[in-house]
Amino acid sequence: MAYTPSSARYDSMTYNRCGNSGLLLPALSLGLWHNFGGVDDFKIARRIVRHAFDKGITHFDLANNYGPPPGSAEENFGAMLKKDFSGNLRDELIISTKAGYVMWPGPYGNWGSRKYLMASLDQSLKRMRISYVDIFYSHRPDPDTPLEETMMALHDIVKSGKALYAGISNYKAPEAKKALEILKKAGTPCLIHQPKYSMFERWVENGLLDVLEEYGVGCIPFSPLAQGLLTDRYLKGIPDNSRASKAHGFLKANDITPEKVQKIQQLNEVAKRRDQTLAQMALSWLLKDKRVTTVLIGVSSTEQLDNNLACLGNTQFNKAELEEIELILKG
Ligand code: NDP
Repeated sequence: MAYTPSSARYDSMTYNRCGNSGLLLPALSLGLWHNFGGVDDFKIARRIVRHAFDKGITHFDLANNYGPPPGSAEENFGAMLKKDFSGNLRDELIISTKAGYVMWPGPYGNWGSRKYLMASLDQSLKRMRISYVDIFYSHRPDPDTPLEETMMALHDIVKSGKALYAGISNYKAPEAKKALEILKKAGTPCLIHQPKYSMFERWVENGLLDVLEEYGVGCIPFSPLAQGLLTDRYLKGIPDNSRASKAHGFLKANDITPEKVQKIQQLNEVAKRRDQTLAQMALSWLLKDKRVTTVLIGVSSTEQLDNNLACLGNTQFNKAELEEIELILKG
């Protein structure tokens, strides 16, 4: 059925400035790592993307290897763009993709060489059937390629017009600082950093957020729900159809330890007292820090998406709540 975006799509979303840039991003962005690949139901995936846009989510995050099979999330998203977002609607979207993990065989399909980044972006654009992405990321640092080479490839990609902004992902504070310095000197200031950050994954607090603030770079935490752990999904075992139940899911059954479940149960009680679901509280907890521009969620249904969107109604925490959460996490 033909899609007409909701006329109310900009009425309820919060948009935050990404670092010192001119770009505003929705407080929640949608990632297409799981649930949008060739193994997944295209109809459901398409419904989620349309629903997200109707609710003001303008930013969709991809990578060359999302699927499975690798590349299929970009192909599916390209098909949705063609069917649902043709014409000027492209100008209402922020589409990102990345290269850095293995994508094709041989020495040029992985890591951070200029050769790989340039070729991979061309392939991504073909799969998505678009002429540019809004953000192109180095997906991870490459210990064997000079940082200058990777960053200058990002700079040249932006100069070529195939990406509007450059980003980095999974760079620890010291290497992020070096990368940001190179990009700044080249005249392509880094727009955004995409780290793993959630209540269960706190490394960004040890220096990275300070570096991003210093350089005026935005932050988009990925896996904010710890792939579903920070929700009510696994409170009573592993449900069918959940990420942990799928052979290709990155969350493994043995990640769901009794200690984790105990913490999840305790956090769930705090969330209830805040009149939130645990998923909402976990997202609000990230958004309370103004250095976090947008939180990058995954969902397998429009119901989960709606549930998560409702976090925006309460992103404040009092001191006692924060202390209680810290005690549970340290316990
Ligand atoms: P999340 O931590 O948000 O986990 C998403 C999963 O949580 C969903 O698939 C769903 O699990 C469950 N979930 C979501 N909302 C709810 C809810 N309200 N109630 C119950 N369960 C819920 O994020 P992801 O791990 O999916 O990562 C998000 C995005 O981050 C990716 O799509 C990708 O774009 C990016 N990313 C980037 C990486 C990088 O290296 N730069 C690495 C990994 C991700 P279920 O499917 O079981 O229903």
